[in-house]
Amino acid sequence: MNCRKLKQEINSLPTSDGAGVKLRRSLGSRQDARLDPFLMLDEFGTENPDDYIAGFPDHPHRGFETVTYMLDGRMQHRDHLGHVGNLGPGSVQWMTAGRGVIHSEMPQQDRGRMRGFQLWINLPRAEKMKPAHYRDIPAEQIPSAVLPAGGEVKVIAGTTSVGGKRIEGPINSSSARLTTDPLYLDVRLDAGARFKQPITAGYNAFIYIYEGEASVGADAEQLATHAAGLFDSEGDAVCVHAGAQGARFLLLAGKPLREPMVQYGPFVMNTREEIEQAIRDYQSGMLVSG
Ligand code: MN
Repeated sequence: MNCRKLKQEINSLPTSDGAGVKLRRSLGSRQDARLDPFLMLDEFGTENPDDYIAGFPDHPHRGFETVTYMLDGRMQHRDHLGHVGNLGPGSVQWMTAGRGVIHSEMPQQDRGRMRGFQLWINLPRAEKMKPAHYRDIPAEQIPSAVLPAGGEVKVIAGTTSVGGKRIEGPINSSSARLTTDPLYLDVRLDAGARFKQPITAGYNAFIYIYEGEASVGADAEQLATHAAGLFDSEGDAVCVHAGAQGARFLLLAGKPLREPMVQYGPFVMNTREEIEQAIRDYQSGMLVSG
């Protein structure tokens, strides 16, 4: 397998969102800091309740998917139709906003550590206005495997193989049939361990290091903690070599949509007119009905 080269590093920037939740944004922090079909990646992680307690009160989405992955702590999701989802340590909520969701995402604790990620994945033109859909995936439904080189992989979406054994995540090409066909791995590597993941030709891939350090890609370039690394499309694998402290990282890949994209806050559409329509629909209460 040929390792892909690193083509861009995106350092995450501290920011806040919702009613004042402190987080780090890598993808999505600038217009050019994206990788089709991935729009945004936020990491939240703090021991201080003041940094998360206000949560994300009611807000809309249209035109894409949000994937929330908790490492520590508890959040509750509620939407305009009365759907309630509880996210605990190790669980995932895969929300397809489609034509519209108005929801809140609120902490269910007033002390202790809150830590996790929210990823935004774009939807193709033909699916932006489909009905909203949720998959709440408890931690025990996310398969994991011990890596012979030292460490562990969890498979949230797509497939990997460890020691010749295929491991399929709960979101996969037969269970979900997502146009972007995403791969979403959470990997822990011991100090000095190596990891290699095949990537489908034509798919885009990136890594986000959330603990420790690693060198990545064909030229073994060093990536710092809390940095995203976007890979070139040449080559058929992503290669990671953990540093002296080991590393924990997310590895994501997906089929690019190659469509025009216009974002205005929580609305991601193909044209400016569609964004204006989304704003009008939200103001008139039509975002989530019809
Ligand atoms: Mn939201």
